[in-house]
Amino acid sequence: MADRMHEVLSELDAAIGVSGHEDEVAAVIAGQLEGAYDSRDADPLGNQYFTRGGEDGAPTVMLCAHMDELGFIIRHIEDEGFLRIGPIGGHDARMVIDQDLTIHGEDGPVHGLTGAKPAHLVEAEERKQAIPLEDLFVDIGTASREESEALGVRVGQVATFRRTGELLNGTRVFTGKAVDDRAGCAVMVEVMRRLGDQPIRSTVCATASVQEEVGLRGALVAGTRLQPDIALALDVTVCGDTPGVEFRRSPVRLGAGPAIKYYDAADWLGAPVPRRLTQRLEQAADGAGLAYQREVLFGGGTDAWTIATSGHGVLAGCVSVPSRYIHSAVGCVHLDDLEGGVRLVLAFLEGLDGEPLV
Ligand SMILES: [Zn+2]
Repeated sequence: MADRMHEVLSELDAAIGVSGHEDEVAAVIAGQLEGAYDSRDADPLGNQYFTRGGEDGAPTVMLCAHMDELGFIIRHIEDEGFLRIGPIGGHDARMVIDQDLTIHGEDGPVHGLTGAKPAHLVEAEERKQAIPLEDLFVDIGTASREESEALGVRVGQVATFRRTGELLNGTRVFTGKAVDDRAGCAVMVEVMRRLGDQPIRSTVCATASVQEEVGLRGALVAGTRLQPDIALALDVTVCGDTPGVEFRRSPVRLGAGPAIKYYDAADWLGAPVPRRLTQRLEQAADGAGLAYQREVLFGGGTDAWTIATSGHGVLAGCVSVPSRYIHSAVGCVHLDDLEGGVRLVLAFLEGLDGEPLV
């Protein structure tokens, strides 16, 4: 099972899916889920729905993992051939410098570099400051706008970090360009595959959502469309277990199990998960003997936010995969946490066949 998880995640991480351009990820997920659902559907935004039918009267459970990843958009091509980029999603400008990018051009991928002023020329004061994204440029080796355009590059195209995912030195730590949220997608895929062997009464709809990183947009539509009885977002969360991070600010560790989310907030906006849902997740974990962590996150949200307030309202929560270096090119997740997440969701679904939650 563990190796299969690695395979599933590698394939998902390699796919390109900047917000609004999720088709390739959708195709990968459809391939991975072949034979694991009864019906498939999509909506105008590009959300994908893979449904496994349940018994009449049993609840409908929506699982939701977002397909999109952070990226960039080409906003200008300089006369000298350099590209100017803008962020898609919540980048930290310090993470973007000196990276390899792939621009998804008209005629296929174009390799670019985010260079910067050489160390020799940087003044003492400048050294202390991050270079804002609007000052960055992408060098694609060309010397003029015409040459850049001849490579198929145009304003409005998107770019991603150019990096192949891998296990770090034979450990169970996977590092990739898009573990947010291909890790959640991998958990969802494995849940659906394993459900095939189990007599679960609920209808389960695996939703691969679009445009999470630009405002939880796809999930709002998906929640409204499905109006499930219960929804679980499957997404990554922030680890606080590396040097220089105050652990108390995000007391979640890599490899210590999936996290049950209780609350998350961005600025003054917050999303409390109803206690009756977190309680059932805890019971599921305890009953199955699974390690889990308790998550309270200040500084971000998930698809559960917009699903909860969609339509007439949905009972929504989140099972998180701990991640280091989130929103950077070198995100890390632990395969054991993905495996734990799969088992937790399966145990939760089984539990719904006992005492009803809704
Ligand atoms: Zn995410």
